[in-house]
Amino acid sequence: MKKALVIEDHPDALEVLTRQLEMLGFAVISANNGMEGVEKAIDEKPDLILMDIMMPGMDGREATRRIRSNPETKKIPILATTVLFTESELRLCIEAGCKDYIVKPFTFEELREKILRFSP
Ligand SMILES: [Mg+2]
Repeated sequence: MKKALVIEDHPDALEVLTRQLEMLGFAVISANNGMEGVEKAIDEKPDLILMDIMMPGMDGREATRRIRSNPETKKIPILATTVLFTESELRLCIEAGCKDYIVKPFTFEELREKILRFSP
């Protein structure tokens, strides 16, 4: 079973994402802040990471940079989940090392399409 790590500070969003990923066949682990997310990425070696960008403390871009700079986790694909939508904000997610992004709120179908591209 493929494993997804959801890093998300909002409890409701975390619950919805967890349920959606389970419906897509993933075993889901979660972290509710950037620091915990970086640690779980190292400990659990998930197949995929969904990264909230706006989080207090270490934000999603910094957590992404840390995951990318660690040889143990640098190859894990990261999908940014974000309410940001200007072109420059989204470009910063990619520059931080996210493979792609999905703008909140998104539908299950949109999520499914993104995930399929990550792990066919
Ligand atoms: Mg957030």
